Amino acid sequence: MPWKPPTPIEIYQLLPKTNCGKCGEANCMAFAIRLASLDAKLEDCPPLIEEEKYKGSYEKLQSLLLPPVREVVIKSPKKVVKIGGKYVLFRHEMRYHNPTAIAVDVDDNMDRDTIIKRVKMIEGFEYEYVGQKLKLDAIAIRSVSNDPKKFAQTVALVAENSSLPLVLCSTNPAVIEAALNVLNPPHHRPLIYAATKDNWREMAEVAKRFDVPLAIASPGDLNLLVSLAKTLSEDMGLKDLALDPGCIVGPGGFAYTIKAFSWLRFKATYDLWKHAGFPLIGTPISVWTQMSGDPKDVMLWEAVLATILITRYADLLIMHSLDGWVLLPQVMWRFQLYTDPRKPVAVPAGLREIGKPNEMSPVIVTTNYALTYSLVSSDAEKAKLNAWLLVIDTEGLAVDVSVAGRKFTGDKVAEIIKSAELEKKVKHRILIIPGKAARVSGDIEDATKWRVMVGPMDSSELGKWLEKNWTSEKIKELMGGS
Ligand code: SF4
Repeated sequence: MPWKPPTPIEIYQLLPKTNCGKCGEANCMAFAIRLASLDAKLEDCPPLIEEEKYKGSYEKLQSLLLPPVREVVIKSPKKVVKIGGKYVLFRHEMRYHNPTAIAVDVDDNMDRDTIIKRVKMIEGFEYEYVGQKLKLDAIAIRSVSNDPKKFAQTVALVAENSSLPLVLCSTNPAVIEAALNVLNPPHHRPLIYAATKDNWREMAEVAKRFDVPLAIASPGDLNLLVSLAKTLSEDMGLKDLALDPGCIVGPGGFAYTIKAFSWLRFKATYDLWKHAGFPLIGTPISVWTQMSGDPKDVMLWEAVLATILITRYADLLIMHSLDGWVLLPQVMWRFQLYTDPRKPVAVPAGLREIGKPNEMSPVIVTTNYALTYSLVSSDAEKAKLNAWLLVIDTEGLAVDVSVAGRKFTGDKVAEIIKSAELEKKVKHRILIIPGKAARVSGDIEDATKWRVMVGPMDSSELGKWLEKNWTSEKIKELMGGS
């Protein structure tokens, strides 16, 4: 049977039931409903956390809400990455939590300049899409030299030049230990990769001593992987583990890889096997040791493997290629897959500047549906406008739907004019609303006391429309009539 969240009633029975409102909800039942849909955290209820008398209930709730795939935290002093923490096998059953983290490698045989250049490229990779900044998450440092001193120096160099969390890759416990002495956990909390059938005891001891998460690698042998997970968790007492079943390409290997990841996640979320219930690590980087020939072909397979593993069910990927055409599909696909299918993608409401607007620049009103916002702002930039963009909170709905659903209203526009202090920024009192919102123009004028101009139906026409309509005569006419 798949994992099921507790019902709101089960949760409510364990809450303080004082209806104090400190969680931001009107009462404990409303908070229980949010917890049951995993839209709130237990920590949002202060009495439950702070008062000794609720300790037992808190612990029971923690165990009821525990995901079948453990959440493991990797961190640097400046950034935290959570991997795993998955509840469901299919996104439509609820939504996926903790997007697949993507790490790109450097190794200790690279010279200092190459390492710094790669680290800066990894850290600086950014693509803006529907108002979101899509970025990489971690740096994987590989020991190629197998020399503890050299590896420790490389790790120190990367840590000095990056704010990203680290994955330390070596099967030699002495090499990993040297690097951990440099990083000094818990200041940093890197993932160490990896325990194998040959070194598991020594690696487990290092992980325990430094209290860092440990990956187990068993390419091609799932029985051994699960058995090592059992030994390390039950006999050695390690809680934060991750599993690498191997990324194999070539005849039979590709099918194995997809089946291995799917089987592990199925066992964790449907059969609730606790020894499969750890984050999964995919290593598309391994194509570089399995393939030869044109590097572009190898990169293509690395990209293909990464995309498949984001879908099936990697929680962390380790990659080598830094080219945009390899990484861009990964961050875009990850973004799509990890959005909540129950909620439209929204950007924060507020006032944005397009170009260099002044006190007489037009104020263009739009919704906070991410796609609408990104189309309007990119069309306005393309037209080289200097304008104010007033983004109203339509709960992530597009213009026509939000007008029909009473989410694009005069009151909403008035609210955002006030909170953005628009009256201090512009001298005129004119708003340009989308053509599709024409029917609420009167409501907006009544609620805001601003004059409304109905703009074009399509934001691609904004430039031409403003050229024709945003004239001093028109402004005077509208302001004179106000
Ligand atoms: S903070 Fe806790 S006790 Fe207070 S209303 Fe919310 S759930 Fe109930």
